[in-house]
Amino acid sequence: MSRKILVTSALPYANGSIHLGHLVEYIQTDIWVRFQKMRGNECHYVCADDTHGTPIMLRAEKEGITPEQLISRVWQEHYDDFTAFHVAFDNYGSTNSSETKEFAQGIYRKLKAENLIEVRSIEQFFDPVKNMFLPDRFIKGECPKCHAKDQYGDNCEVCGAAYAPTDLIEPFSAVSGAKPELRNSDHYFFKLSADTCQQFLREWTRSGALQPEAANKMQEWLGAEGENKLTDWDISRDAPYFGFEIPDAPGKYFYVWLDAPVGYMGSFKQLCAKSGIDFDTYWKQGSDAELYHFIGKDILYFHALFWPAMLQHAGYRTPTKLFAHGFLTVNGEKMSKSRGTFITAKSYVDHIKNTEYLRYYYAAKLNGTMEDLDLNLEDFVAKVNSDLIGKYINIASRAAGFISKNFDGKVHPNHPSNSSPLLDELRLEADTLSSHYENREYAKAVRLIMELADRVNAYVDKEKPWLLAKNEADREALHLACSTMLEAFRLLTLYLKPILPQTTQAIEEFLGIASMSWHDWPSYLKPTQPINSYKHLMTRLDPKLIEAMVAANQESLQPAAPVQSEQRHAAHQQNEVKKEMTETSKESESYISIDDFMKVDLRVAKIVNAEHVEGAEKLLKLTLDIGEEKPRTVFAGIKSAYDPEKLKGRMTVMVANLAPRKMKFGMSEGMVLAASGEAPGLFILSPDDGAQPGMRIK
Ligand SMILES: [Zn+2]
Repeated sequence: MSRKILVTSALPYANGSIHLGHLVEYIQTDIWVRFQKMRGNECHYVCADDTHGTPIMLRAEKEGITPEQLISRVWQEHYDDFTAFHVAFDNYGSTNSSETKEFAQGIYRKLKAENLIEVRSIEQFFDPVKNMFLPDRFIKGECPKCHAKDQYGDNCEVCGAAYAPTDLIEPFSAVSGAKPELRNSDHYFFKLSADTCQQFLREWTRSGALQPEAANKMQEWLGAEGENKLTDWDISRDAPYFGFEIPDAPGKYFYVWLDAPVGYMGSFKQLCAKSGIDFDTYWKQGSDAELYHFIGKDILYFHALFWPAMLQHAGYRTPTKLFAHGFLTVNGEKMSKSRGTFITAKSYVDHIKNTEYLRYYYAAKLNGTMEDLDLNLEDFVAKVNSDLIGKYINIASRAAGFISKNFDGKVHPNHPSNSSPLLDELRLEADTLSSHYENREYAKAVRLIMELADRVNAYVDKEKPWLLAKNEADREALHLACSTMLEAFRLLTLYLKPILPQTTQAIEEFLGIASMSWHDWPSYLKPTQPINSYKHLMTRLDPKLIEAMVAANQESLQPAAPVQSEQRHAAHQQNEVKKEMTETSKESESYISIDDFMKVDLRVAKIVNAEHVEGAEKLLKLTLDIGEEKPRTVFAGIKSAYDPEKLKGRMTVMVANLAPRKMKFGMSEGMVLAASGEAPGLFILSPDDGAQPGMRIK
């Protein structure tokens, strides 16, 4: 039976460009949605620009345009960026819509009727020049802890201290520079501390809606039973503010974070209007439709506490699950403008063009946890060229020519029943791959697909179609081999389809087949349907394009504004960039000299004794004879793979000139070499028979 699934990605803020960090989430979500649609599920994917709040109001003012003009321009930019990366929303809306406004006000009214809204007077900084209350980020001053100047109202970027804006020494308004005054104002609070909210959230966060690490975090925030750690949430802001006015509260606006998630409903409502879907089927309390929010781990608090509590008490269903992901690092470090690794989606498209490279790379690294994901630019080029082109696309280019030239583009007539062991192996993995996609374990899926591609390539190397083609007597064999290759290629393409939608479409046209669903894996290429002549499906990624992209992002860091502090900032950034460039050029020297290699003293070692170490989970204590007077003691992390009794008397290889290391269990005087990889297992090395303890390996 087909499932009813509504999926969202977090709403990007309409105050900046989409960058490669954002794209981790949209690509992750889009792959999942495409997979669900391929499975035949009724799956809808909605998102919207998050458009309200002080930063947008101030930026529009600075540009001399209205907030509406600003958000409509940014909406188009965001939409174009997503489209370029094949992120296919069924509706991409804006929180500044009549639908979102209606839901936000409706939810507010219901919460008020439930006695969950309270008005309190609070004291806050006010800018007497701009005539506005100042959000924390718009107040600056001297850090009360380390006395660094020019720090924000909520935390210090120099020493990391967090504090209230009122703690700042000599605070000033970042908007006008004026000295802010403390003034009182009525604020509206959502009573998250109410028993009904705490109790509900305690249950909900343990219901399996959260990943284990997120559920643990929530338990921390909620505190122990009866501890009631949650505080009420301030949901109002004073005029001037760009947002929705609170009903019956003139001059008071919903805080942007109240209407942002409501934007999911507003955007979906728009989709319902244009495609006749029933809104209530997905949102009424007790709905059997599934609702999933893909989010970054930084906005878990809003999505796992405020949002479900709001929905529950306003009479709507709560999310089935939240899928939180980690952050993107580039070359192992936090993305940062000062390092030049802050790459926008637009800049990627301008330089690299093919956005499926990035989709593939992210997929190859994504799993269902909140771990960070690293975009290593060198590895990116290597993976695209060796996996995507080398292992996968090349299968088609190797088979297609022979089929077109010799067999009128048709696969072998016996091909359908062609119970080739290779094809059987490929078909056998359909269910495993399906569950990897379902569980957002894309890295596992990609790894398995590439293993299958390896097997196809081994088959090609064995059959050698280029030799078969030389001999008229081998026609039949050539036809069968190339048909098998093409069918294998079709299967790999089906498996990669959620990740590579555009390439898949080109391949479907090339093979002359209809758009594949997941259930098409047992199907096969028909001998009656000729393939079209092969055109290049994908080209290699030239590392020079990456270099140019990085350089362009570095150029954009030239000082632009003649404000002194900004210039100082830019100069600092350029130093960082220079540093980064020297580091990169060092990294690109991936070869070592023979002298470098000879620095490592590798010796044949005889394991004279091997024993368990008390209290050590992973270590074995090895006594190694390398022809020296006294045997060496080495602690090796191989306990999971070896029974010490079976190691005794074996020969292996050790690094003999590694500096001795003091460990909890004693001194370790070297290192034993072992192989491990993606597949399970750990394997120590052995020399061939005849090698003697102490022999040098070179
Ligand atoms: Zn400080």
